[in-house]
Amino acid sequence: MDLELTDKTAIVAAASHGIGKACALRLAREGANVVVCARGKEDLVKTAEEISASTGRRIEWVQADITKPDDIEMLVDATRIAFGGVDILVTNCGGPKRGTFISLEDSDWRTAYDLVLMSVVRLIRAAVPQMRNMQCGRIINITSICVKQPIEYLMLSNALRSAIVGMAKTLSNELAPFGILVNNVAPGYTLTNRIYDLAMDEAKELEMSHEEIMARYNEDIPLNRMARPEEIADVVAFLASSRSSYITGTTIPVDGGYYQGLM
Ligand code: NAD
Repeated sequence: MDLELTDKTAIVAAASHGIGKACALRLAREGANVVVCARGKEDLVKTAEEISASTGRRIEWVQADITKPDDIEMLVDATRIAFGGVDILVTNCGGPKRGTFISLEDSDWRTAYDLVLMSVVRLIRAAVPQMRNMQCGRIINITSICVKQPIEYLMLSNALRSAIVGMAKTLSNELAPFGILVNNVAPGYTLTNRIYDLAMDEAKELEMSHEEIMARYNEDIPLNRMARPEEIADVVAFLASSRSSYITGTTIPVDGGYYQGLM
């Protein structure tokens, strides 16, 4: 299948590791120019160089904290200056703090609100004018399977990612006349630093080993294993491509069958 991504320009937010990095690599393999961002310069530069070396594509990096509005503006401006515009926006972010309702304070909610929800709002707001000028575009939000089936201890993620789904569905209607498609990808348990850290916290709390917690996660997944980040990136690349031209306003689970609902 030809994804027709050659020379398209993609921004992948929060992409020095994990799912974001895998998305950047996959899009670059398909011939896209990619701009990656993260807060820490060292890992970000390493990631950009690694992807460029393995794909031969031009990968730009912008050191940016996506909780900061000015950094988001800078990221989108830098993309326009480097490549002339943005065709594909992948709104990834770091995972919010783990915790039950009673353990979380206002400051946790505010931090998570900026990281999980407002980063998506601000990234899209900054990129849409360029997409509207071109009368085409792809916006792909990395959410979580928790938008379909809430996950224990992930109160902030469960609450705020559902807001993204509501926003994205409404936005898909508003942007459809301009040829801009908006979709969400909802990863299930995926082998990244994030899942490693969550399992560490849970292991401490339940006085179990890290391996036991990881095994428990697998038990809930019909495919009996977690995703590789590349398996999430494959779906993102499809949604970013010309092949997804009649898909908008959806949320696609990539979860090995974890979600037990029908729709
Ligand atoms: P990860 O921790 O491996 O990577 C997160 C990336 O985000 C890193 O590159 C980090 O540098 C960057 N980042 C964090 N905060 C940032 C900020 N303020 N500004 C810029 N960059 C920032 O995480 P991951 O597993 O790849 O997860 C990516 C997203 O997908 C997260 O929101 C996570 O909650 C969600 N998710 C993950 C899983 C999973 O099992 N791993 C499942 C469902 C959803």
